[in-house]
Amino acid sequence: MNRRNFLRNASISGAGIAAAATGISCNSTNTKEKETNSTSMPITRTLNAPVAICTWGFTDANETAGKALDAGMNALDAAIKGVAVEEEDIRNTTVGKGGAPDRNGTVSLDASVMDSNGNCGAVVCVENITNVAALAKVVMLETPHVMLAGEGAEELAYKHGFKADELLTPSSAAAYKEWLKTSEYKPLINIENHDTIGMLCMDKDGDIAGACTTSGLSYKMKGRVGDSPIIGAGLFIDNEVGGAAGTGLGEEIIKTVGSFLIVELMRQGKTPQEACEEAINRIVTKHNSVEDFQVAYIAINKKGETGSYCIHPGFAMMEYRNSKNSRIETKSHLKT
Ligand code: ASP
Repeated sequence: MNRRNFLRNASISGAGIAAAATGISCNSTNTKEKETNSTSMPITRTLNAPVAICTWGFTDANETAGKALDAGMNALDAAIKGVAVEEEDIRNTTVGKGGAPDRNGTVSLDASVMDSNGNCGAVVCVENITNVAALAKVVMLETPHVMLAGEGAEELAYKHGFKADELLTPSSAAAYKEWLKTSEYKPLINIENHDTIGMLCMDKDGDIAGACTTSGLSYKMKGRVGDSPIIGAGLFIDNEVGGAAGTGLGEEIIKTVGSFLIVELMRQGKTPQEACEEAINRIVTKHNSVEDFQVAYIAINKKGETGSYCIHPGFAMMEYRNSKNSRIETKSHLKT
């Protein structure tokens, strides 16, 4: 199915139900994680790992990450490898190469990564570099900083072997030329103008990490930064609890620190599904109407349970588990 279709029926595929239902069940390929219980006796918890989930039904990206996890790759590298599929896919007009430009006609990208030790890195307003999630990892590992912007991030990229690339493709340039005729800017509801990929991975050791990468809202103001590179907004991981990622109108996600909120709600005992629903409710209750914008979240906890929720119908999450990649149509606050 074309991911740009506006889906109206929320349903869980058979595989999705099976995957969700087996979230904490035993499986011959499962990983055993050692924990210490309240009496300090070591206990063994069975995890249904590896697991990869991502926003917007990006089948190939999620499968790439899932297979890498199955092959033993760690959660952070698998997430970066997975999202790179979309960064390099010029058909995706809101991530990486082929992303829609800003109002001045320049493509600029934002990305963040967070690992299972609480380390993170981010880049904002980066031009000429396709794999910005990988660049965010370089910021995390090779600099004393968490976030680099614009030219500084680009310089770092070249220093670490990234190649300069033309991000504006002929079709994005043509769409921009068409847009200039009216120059009308309004955030639209679904994948018409946002397709950010946020990905959360749990590796065979039960460790969780994530990556989020985007060209942001189409025809944004030059210099505009959304939620995706903001740790706690577009992405947050706490390896003791779980992880969350967001997509949609970044301004709303930033105002409610959405991904951090979801992880904290899971820490308080909510399931990933309940936590995503509560985070959407926080946005909804602040507005008289949420008719004209979309926000969607995905989340995973340490048991490998997952959840997703959104404002408008039309958002799907991919979930890879037990070597199966399933598309999960997400329930929404608004029903039509
Ligand atoms: N959240 C992104 C942003 O506001 C847009 C998207 O999800 O596509 O930049």
